[in-house]
Amino acid sequence: MSDKGQLLNFIDGKWRRSSASEYLDIINPATAQAMSTVPLSPGGEVDMAVRAGMKAFQEWRRTPVEDRIQHLFALKVLLEDNIDDIARVITHECGKTYAESVGEMRRGIEDVEVACGAPILMQGRNNEDIARGIDEHMIRQPLGVVTAITPFNFPGMIPLWFMPYALATGNCFILKPSEKVSMSSQMLFELLEQANFPPGVVQLVNGGKETVDALLDHPGVKAVSFVGSTPVAKYVYSRATANGKRAQCQGGAKNPVVIMPDADMETTTRIMADSAFGCAGQRCLAASVAITVGEAKNEFTEMIADAASTRKVGFGLDEGVQMGPVITPESKARIEGLIEKGAQEGADILVDGRGQTVDGYKDGYWVFPTVLDGVNPEGEIANTEIFGPVLSLMHAETLDEAIELVNHRNYGNMACMFTSSGAAARQFRYSADAGNIGINIGVAAPMAFFPFSGWNDSFFGDLHAQAHHGIEFYTQTKVVIERWPREWSRQF
Ligand code: NAD
Repeated sequence: MSDKGQLLNFIDGKWRRSSASEYLDIINPATAQAMSTVPLSPGGEVDMAVRAGMKAFQEWRRTPVEDRIQHLFALKVLLEDNIDDIARVITHECGKTYAESVGEMRRGIEDVEVACGAPILMQGRNNEDIARGIDEHMIRQPLGVVTAITPFNFPGMIPLWFMPYALATGNCFILKPSEKVSMSSQMLFELLEQANFPPGVVQLVNGGKETVDALLDHPGVKAVSFVGSTPVAKYVYSRATANGKRAQCQGGAKNPVVIMPDADMETTTRIMADSAFGCAGQRCLAASVAITVGEAKNEFTEMIADAASTRKVGFGLDEGVQMGPVITPESKARIEGLIEKGAQEGADILVDGRGQTVDGYKDGYWVFPTVLDGVNPEGEIANTEIFGPVLSLMHAETLDEAIELVNHRNYGNMACMFTSSGAAARQFRYSADAGNIGINIGVAAPMAFFPFSGWNDSFFGDLHAQAHHGIEFYTQTKVVIERWPREWSRQF
């Protein structure tokens, strides 16, 4: 829904043009062409949405859960029917390949499916006779108006980590998507409109920092879900909680992967190349540091360098393309600067993805796959989220040494290991300081029926996104203790 190329907000069941004084271009990173503009909505529009949500909440929370989830079943069918169109839009504005865009939508649809289990998932607990003739029940009730603030790299999937659970449990939901990729959210809301949610139950307010701050400060917003970089996650968490709101804030990452000498090197290399260079490395679960143990060093180094230099880079809708551009020229400059920094800190640039271009797309924001060998574990490059297609290599003599390197960082989103030894895998999964662990897996993204468990500087809060954590986050427990003495009732 756009008006002369300007994206609209969806407030109180209607598409509305923002009164914003500032608009940003939505740019295809493969061509550097603007496709539409997004408003940086002012606080007044957030207030309008929150008030509409508070009004809608009165009726929505009373709507039986079985009726609420019928809208989600409808949404699931609409998403399936329109997956191709949404995927194309994601590729246009976010840069990832068509297959990656379809993949993220599939994962998002799984969240809609899981949230349809709300009639069971949100059940409470009870005990009869906690004392003679007295019963105690714990029930779950929705919070009210809740919001999610989402990043650029998964514009189709990440809103669905939150929205279906919030709606199924009886809350009204406001999405503030990334201002870099807002066209995907418009398409999602066109489908939500067709899924016939009552006005005010699910709303879209486009914008940037001012819009976020208005959500964080509004007394009508009861809970905030956030996904983005660590500094902003910390900021959102502290401001939301200082204002008395619940918050779950997922931050950045720097994911280490240990490669044991007994791993199947061919499979390991294929999976590692997908993890490090898929989505141009713009994934919070991208492998960014590979730590080879003992004899794994030579074989893996050679094979991953070969995989990096042969990966086909280009516009994600073109045939055979395996990796797209990075999101902005600023991102490209930052990534290239970090590659240079790695070299200054003593790393060898085995494969250099700088200074490359793609035929027919000379203006695109290209950084090709890059491999840095012998990265200094104490250096900046080893501990900074690069968020680009750059894999750093380190080497250890023993598994213990490798695990020390894994745990030598502030982030804790993901840690993986490749091995054929159950004992090594067990030691790793037991000791690695991260919330999502992969064994012979390169992107350990939990399915929708498990929580997305980031740790340390990758997550602020306690209940994570998805599954029963999502249900608990969006409900408050009420405990009822009741006594019904027979002698107080009319006898029948
Ligand atoms: P970002 O932090 O720049 O933006 C995220 C959201 O915050 C956007 O909606 C943006 O409008 C808003 N925002 C940005 N600056 C703000 C400010 N100063 N005040 C208030 N709001 C602000 O992140 P991004 O560049 O869009 O996304 C990439 C980051 O997201 C990476 O660090 C990546 O690791 C992280 N990420 C994490 C996960 C996870 O599950 N942990 C998943 C995906 C992405």
